[in-house]
Amino acid sequence: MKNSLGNRDSNVIWHPYTQHQKMEEPIPIVKGDGALLIDENGNIYIDAVSSWWVNLHGHGHPYIAEKIYKQALALEHVIFTHFTHEPAVTLAERLLKILPGKFSKIFYSDNGSTAVEVALKMAIQFWINKDQPRRNKILAFYNAYHGDTFGSMSVSARGLFTNSFKDFLFDTVFIETPHTGNLGEIKSVIHSYKGQIAAFIFEPLLQAAGGMRMYEAKYLDELLAVFQAENILCIADEVLTGFGRTGPLFAGESIAHHADMICLSKGLTGGTMALGITACNQNIFNAFLSTDRAKTFYHGHSFTANPLACTAGLASLDLLEKTSCRDQIQWIRRQHEEFARNELSVIGMEIMVNIRIMGTILAFELNTGKDEYINEVSATVMNKALTRGIYLRPLGNTVYIMPPYCITPEQLKKIYQFILSIPDFIRKN
Ligand SMILES: *Cc1c(COP(=O)(O)O)cnc(C)c1O
Repeated sequence: MKNSLGNRDSNVIWHPYTQHQKMEEPIPIVKGDGALLIDENGNIYIDAVSSWWVNLHGHGHPYIAEKIYKQALALEHVIFTHFTHEPAVTLAERLLKILPGKFSKIFYSDNGSTAVEVALKMAIQFWINKDQPRRNKILAFYNAYHGDTFGSMSVSARGLFTNSFKDFLFDTVFIETPHTGNLGEIKSVIHSYKGQIAAFIFEPLLQAAGGMRMYEAKYLDELLAVFQAENILCIADEVLTGFGRTGPLFAGESIAHHADMICLSKGLTGGTMALGITACNQNIFNAFLSTDRAKTFYHGHSFTANPLACTAGLASLDLLEKTSCRDQIQWIRRQHEEFARNELSVIGMEIMVNIRIMGTILAFELNTGKDEYINEVSATVMNKALTRGIYLRPLGNTVYIMPPYCITPEQLKKIYQFILSIPDFIRKN
Protein backbone atom coordinates (compact mmCIF):
# COMPACT_ATOMS: atom_id res chain seq x y z
CA MET A 1 0.00 0.00 0.00
CA LYS A 2 1.26 3.45 -0.89
CA ASN A 3 2.16 5.56 2.15
CA SER A 4 2.03 2.54 4.39
CA LEU A 5 4.99 2.24 6.74
CA GLY A 6 6.15 -0.88 4.92
CA ASN A 7 6.12 0.99 1.63
CA ARG A 8 7.92 4.03 3.06
CA ASP A 9 10.49 1.64 4.53
CA SER A 10 11.08 0.06 1.12
CA ASN A 11 11.85 3.49 -0.30
CA VAL A 12 14.53 4.42 2.19
CA ILE A 13 15.83 1.47 4.20
CA TRP A 14 18.43 -1.24 3.63
CA HIS A 15 17.84 -4.11 6.07
CA PRO A 16 20.49 -6.43 7.53
CA TYR A 17 21.08 -9.86 5.94
CA THR A 18 18.40 -9.01 3.40
CA GLN A 19 18.24 -9.50 -0.36
CA HIS A 20 16.00 -6.60 -1.29
CA GLN A 21 15.27 -7.90 -4.76
CA LYS A 22 13.23 -10.61 -3.06
CA MET A 23 12.13 -8.93 0.12
CA GLU A 24 8.46 -8.47 0.77
CA GLU A 25 7.43 -5.34 2.63
CA PRO A 26 8.55 -5.60 6.26
CA ILE A 27 5.93 -5.84 8.96
CA PRO A 28 5.60 -2.61 10.96
CA ILE A 29 5.71 -3.46 14.66
CA VAL A 30 4.08 -0.84 16.83
CA LYS A 31 4.30 -2.44 20.25
CA GLY A 32 6.01 -5.16 22.22
CA ASP A 33 4.48 -6.73 25.29
CA GLY A 34 6.28 -9.54 27.10
CA ALA A 35 7.11 -12.22 24.55
CA LEU A 36 4.64 -10.69 22.08
CA LEU A 37 5.11 -8.33 19.16
CA ILE A 38 2.08 -6.46 17.83
CA ASP A 39 1.92 -5.04 14.31
CA GLU A 40 0.06 -1.98 13.02
CA ASN A 41 -2.94 -4.10 12.04
CA GLY A 42 -3.20 -5.64 15.47
CA ASN A 43 -1.67 -8.99 14.45
CA ILE A 44 0.23 -10.61 17.29
CA TYR A 45 3.45 -12.62 16.96
CA ILE A 46 5.27 -14.61 19.61
CA ASP A 47 8.92 -13.57 19.49
CA ALA A 48 10.35 -17.10 19.54
CA VAL A 49 13.91 -15.89 18.83
CA SER A 50 14.02 -13.10 21.44
CA SER A 51 14.53 -10.52 18.68
CA TRP A 52 17.81 -11.98 17.50
CA TRP A 53 18.72 -13.48 20.88
CA VAL A 54 18.85 -10.24 22.84
CA ASN A 55 15.58 -10.01 24.76
CA LEU A 56 15.47 -11.65 28.20
CA HIS A 57 12.59 -10.23 30.21
CA GLY A 58 10.12 -9.35 27.48
CA HIS A 59 9.43 -6.29 25.37
CA GLY A 60 8.39 -2.96 26.83
CA HIS A 61 9.40 -4.01 30.33
CA PRO A 62 8.11 -1.26 32.69
CA TYR A 63 10.93 -1.66 35.26
CA ILE A 64 13.71 -1.27 32.70
CA ALA A 65 11.83 1.50 30.87
CA GLU A 66 11.36 3.50 34.06
CA LYS A 67 15.04 3.24 34.97
CA ILE A 68 16.12 4.38 31.50
CA TYR A 69 13.66 7.29 31.62
CA LYS A 70 14.95 8.51 34.99
CA GLN A 71 18.57 8.18 33.88
CA ALA A 72 17.80 10.08 30.65
CA LEU A 73 16.52 13.02 32.68
CA ALA A 74 19.65 13.00 34.86
CA LEU A 75 22.43 12.27 32.36
CA GLU A 76 21.98 10.76 28.90
CA HIS A 77 25.62 10.60 27.90
CA VAL A 78 29.04 11.94 28.75
CA ILE A 79 32.49 11.51 27.24
CA PHE A 80 34.17 8.59 29.03
CA THR A 81 37.76 9.82 29.12
CA HIS A 82 38.37 11.98 32.24
CA PHE A 83 34.76 11.50 33.31
CA THR A 84 32.90 8.62 34.84
CA HIS A 85 29.38 8.02 36.16
CA GLU A 86 27.47 5.85 38.58
CA PRO A 87 25.80 3.41 36.12
CA ALA A 88 29.12 2.48 34.45
CA VAL A 89 30.92 1.91 37.75
CA THR A 90 28.08 0.03 39.45
CA LEU A 91 27.50 -2.20 36.45
CA ALA A 92 31.22 -3.03 36.31
CA GLU A 93 31.29 -3.78 40.05
CA ARG A 94 28.26 -6.03 39.84
CA LEU A 95 29.45 -7.88 36.75
CA LEU A 96 32.93 -8.51 38.14
CA LYS A 97 31.29 -10.24 41.12
CA ILE A 98 29.34 -12.69 38.96
CA LEU A 99 31.51 -13.35 35.89
CA PRO A 100 32.94 -16.88 35.64
CA GLY A 101 36.62 -16.37 36.42
CA LYS A 102 38.98 -13.86 37.97
CA PHE A 103 38.33 -10.71 35.97
CA SER A 104 39.36 -7.34 37.27
CA LYS A 105 38.57 -4.70 34.65
CA ILE A 106 35.63 -3.91 32.38
CA PHE A 107 36.09 -2.19 29.01
CA TYR A 108 32.89 -0.83 27.47
CA SER A 109 31.91 -0.73 23.82
CA ASP A 110 28.72 -0.89 21.77
CA ASN A 111 27.88 -4.44 20.66
CA GLY A 112 29.09 -8.01 20.39
CA SER A 113 31.36 -7.43 17.42
CA THR A 114 33.11 -4.48 19.09
CA ALA A 115 33.48 -6.48 22.32
CA VAL A 116 35.31 -9.11 20.24
CA GLU A 117 37.42 -6.50 18.41
CA VAL A 118 38.49 -5.06 21.75
CA ALA A 119 39.46 -8.51 23.10
CA LEU A 120 41.48 -9.33 19.97
CA LYS A 121 43.26 -5.99 20.02
CA MET A 122 44.02 -6.33 23.75
CA ALA A 123 45.43 -9.82 23.20
CA ILE A 124 47.64 -8.79 20.27
CA GLN A 125 48.96 -5.68 22.00
CA PHE A 126 49.46 -7.60 25.24
CA TRP A 127 52.38 -9.57 23.73
CA ILE A 128 53.85 -6.45 22.14
CA ASN A 129 53.64 -4.56 25.42
CA LYS A 130 55.39 -7.48 27.14
CA ASP A 131 58.25 -7.04 24.64
CA GLN A 132 57.88 -10.65 23.59
CA PRO A 133 58.54 -12.02 20.09
CA ARG A 134 55.61 -11.14 17.84
CA ARG A 135 52.69 -13.52 18.07
CA ASN A 136 50.65 -13.22 14.92
CA LYS A 137 48.25 -16.15 15.02
CA ILE A 138 44.78 -16.32 16.49
CA LEU A 139 43.07 -19.66 17.01
CA ALA A 140 39.34 -20.18 16.72
CA PHE A 141 36.89 -23.04 16.21
CA TYR A 142 35.52 -24.14 12.87
CA ASN A 143 31.89 -22.93 12.52
CA ALA A 144 32.61 -20.06 14.90
CA TYR A 145 30.70 -16.81 14.73
CA HIS A 146 32.13 -13.78 16.50
CA GLY A 147 30.58 -10.87 14.60
CA ASP A 148 30.48 -8.93 11.35
CA THR A 149 33.31 -6.39 11.65
CA PHE A 150 36.63 -7.24 10.00
CA GLY A 151 38.45 -8.59 13.04
CA SER A 152 35.48 -10.56 14.28
CA MET A 153 34.81 -11.86 10.74
CA SER A 154 38.45 -12.94 10.52
CA VAL A 155 38.06 -15.24 13.51
CA SER A 156 34.68 -16.56 12.31
CA ALA A 157 33.90 -19.42 9.93
CA ARG A 158 34.50 -18.51 6.30
CA GLY A 159 31.59 -18.92 3.90
CA LEU A 160 28.79 -17.19 2.07
CA PHE A 161 28.73 -14.24 4.45
CA THR A 162 32.47 -13.58 4.36
CA ASN A 163 33.49 -14.65 0.84
CA SER A 164 33.45 -11.15 -0.65
CA PHE A 165 35.91 -9.97 1.98
CA LYS A 166 38.24 -12.95 2.13
CA ASP A 167 41.26 -11.06 0.73
CA PHE A 168 40.95 -8.58 3.57
CA LEU A 169 40.55 -10.97 6.50
CA PHE A 170 43.58 -11.91 8.57
CA ASP A 171 44.66 -15.55 8.73
CA THR A 172 43.16 -17.52 11.56
CA VAL A 173 44.05 -21.07 12.53
CA PHE A 174 40.86 -23.06 12.90
CA ILE A 175 40.56 -26.10 15.14
CA GLU A 176 37.72 -28.54 15.79
CA THR A 177 35.51 -28.18 18.83
CA PRO A 178 36.78 -30.71 21.35
CA HIS A 179 35.11 -34.08 21.69
CA THR A 180 36.15 -37.46 22.89
CA GLY A 181 39.21 -38.52 21.01
CA ASN A 182 40.31 -35.39 19.13
CA LEU A 183 42.26 -33.63 21.88
CA GLY A 184 45.55 -35.15 20.75
CA GLU A 185 45.00 -33.84 17.24
CA ILE A 186 44.10 -30.35 18.49
CA LYS A 187 47.15 -30.36 20.76
CA SER A 188 49.44 -31.12 17.85
CA VAL A 189 48.01 -28.16 15.90
CA ILE A 190 48.61 -25.92 18.92
CA HIS A 191 52.16 -27.21 19.28
CA SER A 192 52.91 -26.68 15.60
CA TYR A 193 52.35 -22.95 16.16
CA LYS A 194 54.35 -22.82 19.35
CA GLY A 195 55.24 -19.29 20.40
CA GLN A 196 53.15 -17.75 17.60
CA ILE A 197 49.65 -17.86 19.06
CA ALA A 198 48.46 -14.59 20.58
CA ALA A 199 45.04 -15.83 21.62
CA PHE A 200 42.35 -18.44 21.34
CA ILE A 201 38.76 -17.24 20.99
CA PHE A 202 35.79 -19.50 21.56
CA GLU A 203 32.05 -19.60 22.15
CA PRO A 204 31.70 -21.74 25.29
CA LEU A 205 29.52 -24.85 24.84
CA LEU A 206 27.29 -23.41 22.11
CA GLN A 207 28.12 -22.22 18.60
CA ALA A 208 24.85 -20.46 17.98
CA ALA A 209 25.08 -18.69 14.62
CA GLY A 210 27.14 -21.64 13.35
CA GLY A 211 24.00 -23.77 13.59
CA MET A 212 23.21 -24.19 17.31
CA ARG A 213 26.09 -26.67 17.65
CA MET A 214 26.61 -27.85 21.20
CA TYR A 215 29.68 -29.43 22.74
CA GLU A 216 30.58 -30.69 26.18
CA ALA A 217 32.01 -28.73 29.06
CA LYS A 218 34.48 -31.37 30.16
CA TYR A 219 36.26 -31.39 26.79
CA LEU A 220 36.37 -27.61 26.67
CA ASP A 221 37.85 -27.66 30.13
CA GLU A 222 40.60 -30.04 28.99
CA LEU A 223 41.31 -27.86 25.98
CA LEU A 224 41.53 -24.69 28.07
CA ALA A 225 43.99 -26.48 30.36
CA VAL A 226 46.20 -27.09 27.31
CA PHE A 227 46.05 -23.44 26.25
CA GLN A 228 46.86 -22.28 29.75
CA ALA A 229 49.81 -24.64 30.01
CA GLU A 230 51.05 -23.12 26.74
CA ASN A 231 50.57 -19.62 28.09
CA ILE A 232 48.07 -18.65 25.37
CA LEU A 233 45.44 -16.01 26.16
CA CYS A 234 41.89 -17.34 26.07
CA ILE A 235 38.92 -15.20 25.07
CA ALA A 236 35.45 -16.47 25.98
CA ASP A 237 32.83 -15.02 23.66
CA GLU A 238 29.72 -15.16 25.86
CA VAL A 239 27.90 -12.55 23.76
CA LEU A 240 25.08 -15.02 23.30
CA THR A 241 25.61 -17.57 26.09
CA GLY A 242 25.74 -14.94 28.84
CA PHE A 243 22.88 -14.04 31.16
CA GLY A 244 21.15 -17.36 31.51
CA ARG A 245 20.67 -18.50 27.93
CA THR A 246 22.32 -21.88 28.45
CA GLY A 247 20.86 -22.40 31.94
CA PRO A 248 23.47 -21.06 34.37
CA LEU A 249 24.12 -17.31 34.37
CA PHE A 250 27.20 -17.88 32.17
CA ALA A 251 28.22 -20.95 30.16
CA GLY A 252 31.71 -20.60 31.67
CA GLU A 253 30.31 -21.54 35.08
CA SER A 254 30.42 -25.20 34.16
CA ILE A 255 34.16 -25.26 33.48
CA ALA A 256 37.04 -25.09 35.94
CA HIS A 257 39.57 -23.35 33.67
CA HIS A 258 38.62 -19.77 33.09
CA ALA A 259 39.29 -17.43 30.22
CA ASP A 260 41.55 -14.36 30.46
CA MET A 261 38.95 -12.22 28.73
CA ILE A 262 35.21 -12.45 28.30
CA CYS A 263 32.97 -10.68 25.76
CA LEU A 264 29.36 -9.80 26.55
CA SER A 265 26.53 -8.06 24.74
CA LYS A 266 23.07 -9.21 23.54
CA GLY A 267 21.31 -10.03 26.86
CA LEU A 268 23.52 -7.59 28.77
CA THR A 269 20.85 -4.88 28.76
CA GLY A 270 17.96 -7.34 28.66
CA GLY A 271 17.86 -6.57 24.96
CA THR A 272 16.87 -2.94 25.35
CA MET A 273 19.98 -0.90 24.51
CA ALA A 274 23.17 -1.52 22.52
CA LEU A 275 26.09 -2.22 24.84
CA GLY A 276 29.18 -4.41 24.71
CA ILE A 277 31.67 -5.40 27.36
CA THR A 278 35.13 -6.90 27.32
CA ALA A 279 36.30 -7.97 30.77
CA CYS A 280 39.92 -8.88 31.34
CA ASN A 281 42.05 -10.18 34.19
CA GLN A 282 44.70 -8.23 36.08
CA ASN A 283 47.53 -9.83 34.10
CA ILE A 284 46.25 -8.31 30.86
CA PHE A 285 45.52 -4.92 32.40
CA ASN A 286 48.98 -4.75 33.98
CA ALA A 287 50.66 -5.21 30.58
CA PHE A 288 49.21 -1.85 29.53
CA LEU A 289 50.48 0.08 32.57
CA SER A 290 53.56 2.04 31.56
CA THR A 291 55.15 5.45 31.29
CA ASP A 292 55.66 4.58 27.63
CA ARG A 293 52.67 6.04 25.78
CA ALA A 294 52.95 3.39 23.05
CA LYS A 295 51.71 0.84 25.58
CA THR A 296 48.34 2.57 26.00
CA PHE A 297 45.27 0.81 24.66
CA TYR A 298 44.17 3.28 21.98
CA HIS A 299 40.62 2.17 21.43
CA GLY A 300 37.27 3.77 22.18
CA HIS A 301 33.87 4.57 20.77
CA SER A 302 31.80 7.75 20.89
CA PHE A 303 29.18 6.04 23.01
CA THR A 304 31.54 4.13 25.29
CA ALA A 305 29.74 3.30 28.57
CA ASN A 306 26.60 5.16 27.58
CA PRO A 307 24.77 5.85 30.87
CA LEU A 308 21.36 4.83 29.49
CA ALA A 309 22.72 1.51 28.25
CA CYS A 310 24.57 0.88 31.54
CA THR A 311 21.37 1.69 33.44
CA ALA A 312 19.46 -0.79 31.30
CA GLY A 313 22.18 -3.33 32.12
CA LEU A 314 21.73 -2.73 35.84
CA ALA A 315 17.94 -3.00 35.58
CA SER A 316 18.23 -6.23 33.62
CA LEU A 317 20.59 -7.65 36.26
CA ASP A 318 18.08 -6.76 38.99
CA LEU A 319 15.47 -8.82 37.17
CA LEU A 320 17.87 -11.63 36.35
CA GLU A 321 18.92 -12.00 39.97
CA LYS A 322 15.37 -12.65 41.12
CA THR A 323 14.72 -16.31 41.88
CA SER A 324 11.53 -16.10 39.82
CA CYS A 325 13.60 -15.34 36.71
CA ARG A 326 16.10 -18.12 37.40
CA ASP A 327 13.19 -20.53 38.02
CA GLN A 328 11.65 -19.47 34.75
CA ILE A 329 14.88 -20.34 32.86
CA GLN A 330 14.89 -23.81 34.41
CA TRP A 331 11.20 -24.18 33.70
CA ILE A 332 11.75 -23.45 29.99
CA ARG A 333 14.50 -26.09 29.86
CA ARG A 334 12.23 -28.67 31.48
CA GLN A 335 9.40 -27.82 29.05
CA HIS A 336 11.80 -28.25 26.12
CA GLU A 337 12.96 -31.60 27.48
CA GLU A 338 9.44 -32.90 27.97
CA PHE A 339 8.36 -31.70 24.57
CA ALA A 340 11.41 -33.26 22.89
CA ARG A 341 10.99 -36.58 24.67
CA ASN A 342 7.25 -37.02 24.56
CA GLU A 343 6.27 -35.33 21.33
CA LEU A 344 8.98 -34.06 19.01
CA SER A 345 11.05 -37.23 18.90
CA VAL A 346 7.91 -39.28 18.42
CA ILE A 347 6.14 -37.20 15.80
CA GLY A 348 9.19 -35.67 14.11
CA MET A 349 10.51 -39.07 13.09
CA GLU A 350 12.82 -38.82 10.12
CA ILE A 351 12.07 -35.21 9.24
CA MET A 352 13.04 -33.43 12.47
CA VAL A 353 16.35 -34.90 13.55
CA ASN A 354 19.27 -34.28 15.86
CA ILE A 355 17.07 -32.74 18.54
CA ARG A 356 19.11 -30.94 21.19
CA ILE A 357 18.52 -28.65 24.13
CA MET A 358 20.71 -26.29 26.08
CA GLY A 359 19.05 -24.12 28.70
CA THR A 360 16.34 -22.06 27.01
CA ILE A 361 17.33 -23.19 23.52
CA LEU A 362 15.76 -26.06 21.59
CA ALA A 363 17.15 -26.93 18.16
CA PHE A 364 16.87 -29.62 15.49
CA GLU A 365 17.58 -30.11 11.81
CA LEU A 366 15.07 -30.54 9.04
CA ASN A 367 16.15 -33.54 7.10
CA THR A 368 15.04 -32.60 3.59
CA GLY A 369 17.90 -34.00 1.58
CA LYS A 370 19.29 -30.49 0.92
CA ASP A 371 21.80 -28.78 3.13
CA GLU A 372 22.55 -25.38 1.62
CA TYR A 373 22.16 -22.43 3.96
CA ILE A 374 19.91 -20.55 1.62
CA ASN A 375 17.09 -22.84 0.74
CA GLU A 376 13.37 -22.71 0.43
CA VAL A 377 12.78 -24.78 3.53
CA SER A 378 13.79 -22.15 6.03
CA ALA A 379 11.71 -19.52 4.23
CA THR A 380 8.74 -21.88 4.15
CA VAL A 381 8.98 -22.56 7.88
CA MET A 382 9.42 -18.86 8.65
CA ASN A 383 6.44 -17.79 6.53
CA LYS A 384 4.20 -20.55 7.80
CA ALA A 385 5.09 -19.64 11.38
CA LEU A 386 4.20 -15.99 10.73
CA THR A 387 0.72 -16.97 9.54
CA ARG A 388 0.31 -18.80 12.87
CA GLY A 389 1.43 -15.78 14.89
CA ILE A 390 4.97 -16.94 15.64
CA TYR A 391 8.28 -15.38 14.64
CA LEU A 392 10.93 -18.01 13.95
CA ARG A 393 14.07 -17.63 11.87
CA PRO A 394 15.75 -20.94 11.01
CA LEU A 395 19.48 -21.01 10.28
CA GLY A 396 19.36 -22.91 7.00
CA ASN A 397 18.01 -26.35 7.87
CA THR A 398 18.44 -25.73 11.56
CA VAL A 399 15.19 -24.79 13.27
CA TYR A 400 15.53 -23.47 16.80
CA ILE A 401 13.61 -21.56 19.40
CA MET A 402 15.14 -19.21 21.95
CA PRO A 403 12.26 -17.43 23.71
CA PRO A 404 12.43 -14.55 26.18
CA TYR A 405 12.47 -15.89 29.74
CA CYS A 406 9.04 -14.38 30.43
CA ILE A 407 7.28 -16.59 27.87
CA THR A 408 4.01 -18.02 29.20
CA PRO A 409 2.99 -21.72 29.16
CA GLU A 410 0.31 -20.98 26.54
CA GLN A 411 2.76 -19.14 24.28
CA LEU A 412 5.35 -21.90 24.53
CA LYS A 413 2.71 -24.51 23.81
CA LYS A 414 1.63 -22.61 20.71
CA ILE A 415 5.21 -22.67 19.40
CA TYR A 416 5.51 -26.41 20.12
CA GLN A 417 2.25 -27.09 18.30
CA PHE A 418 3.53 -25.22 15.29
CA ILE A 419 6.76 -27.25 15.34
CA LEU A 420 4.78 -30.47 15.40
CA SER A 421 2.96 -29.34 12.27
CA ILE A 422 6.17 -28.83 10.28
CA PRO A 423 6.07 -32.33 8.70
CA ASP A 424 2.63 -31.44 7.28
CA PHE A 425 4.15 -28.90 4.92
CA ILE A 426 7.78 -30.02 4.61
CA ARG A 427 8.21 -33.24 2.75
CA LYS A 428 11.44 -35.12 2.42
CA ASN A 429 12.66 -35.14 -1.19
C1 LIG B 1 25.73 -12.10 17.91
C2 LIG B 1 27.10 -12.52 18.29
C3 LIG B 1 28.20 -11.68 18.11
C4 LIG B 1 28.09 -10.33 17.46
O1 LIG B 1 27.32 -9.45 18.20
P1 LIG B 1 26.66 -8.17 17.49
O2 LIG B 1 26.11 -7.38 18.62
O3 LIG B 1 25.61 -8.70 16.57
O4 LIG B 1 27.75 -7.47 16.76
C5 LIG B 1 29.43 -12.11 18.56
N1 LIG B 1 29.58 -13.31 19.13
C6 LIG B 1 28.54 -14.16 19.31
C7 LIG B 1 28.77 -15.47 19.99
C8 LIG B 1 27.27 -13.80 18.88
O5 LIG B 1 26.24 -14.65 19.02
